[in-house]
Amino acid sequence: MAEKIQNKTDPVTGKTNEPILRIENLSKKYGELLVLKNLSLSVQKGEVVVIIGASGSGKSTLLRCVNFLEKTKKGKIYLEGKLIRNQEKQLTRYRQELGMVFQHFNLFPHMTVARNVMEGLVQVKKMPKDEARLEAEKLLDRVGLLDKADVYPAMLSGGQKQRVAIARALAMKPKIMLFDEPTSALDPELVGEVLSVMTQLAKEGMTMLVVTHEMWFASEVADRVIFMDGGIIVEEAPPKEMFSAPKEERTQEFLSQIL
Ligand code: ADP
Ligand code: MG
Repeated sequence: MAEKIQNKTDPVTGKTNEPILRIENLSKKYGELLVLKNLSLSVQKGEVVVIIGASGSGKSTLLRCVNFLEKTKKGKIYLEGKLIRNQEKQLTRYRQELGMVFQHFNLFPHMTVARNVMEGLVQVKKMPKDEARLEAEKLLDRVGLLDKADVYPAMLSGGQKQRVAIARALAMKPKIMLFDEPTSALDPELVGEVLSVMTQLAKEGMTMLVVTHEMWFASEVADRVIFMDGGIIVEEAPPKEMFSAPKEERTQEFLSQIL
């Protein structure tokens, strides 16, 4: 059973300041290699948090732990204050609340674009097919791909595939979207169309946790930027501060390499 943690409720607005996602003291080892070291991080409703850091710093592992694709012995994850336990039944429901978008799109190749988007609605949410189709069309319209509804993923460019993957994740009405380098497998000319869909989502108030090397996106869209190195959060700050005046030497060094 989920455990309710103490919420601080504002007596005037009745709102709680409980974050959508709260990661507490998360550690992860692969064999003897400690990849995440007692890491804690919260994402508030409507917040866009961008994670940057060198390859191997643990960014993907962090997202995989949030999704329980990796099992950890130490650490707790809360969704809207509810402790998520590593139990299949609860995890199935929990994962529906997370929209995951990976570097590689993982679309079902034997299904049309619309079917890809509908699949979760029909299989998991048991929505009638015609209703799911309408929903899929709305979502495809939102990512600018309504005209591709009936083609197969093989017919699409990488940028289009990634936009379908975003539409598919959105179909489940997630509480938070997790992106792991969604544009790093794309040809440079296709990066913009994916970032612009993500920017639009952010404007509409979607809560997002995004691993990316796209500094433009981080500086324009993020509310907060987190720099990870060696499995810890070295520094976090609003993008302006992070990019113009990083405090930690390790952050300065990393940024000097990429900016
Ligand atoms: P990032 O996404 O920041 O590049 P990762 O989370 O992928 O970093 O990897 C962090 C560290 O964990 C790296 O040293 C990587 O080699 C190691 N690692 C990642 N996945 C595995 C795995 N399945 N088994 C063993 N080591 C892994
Ligand atoms: Mg990675």
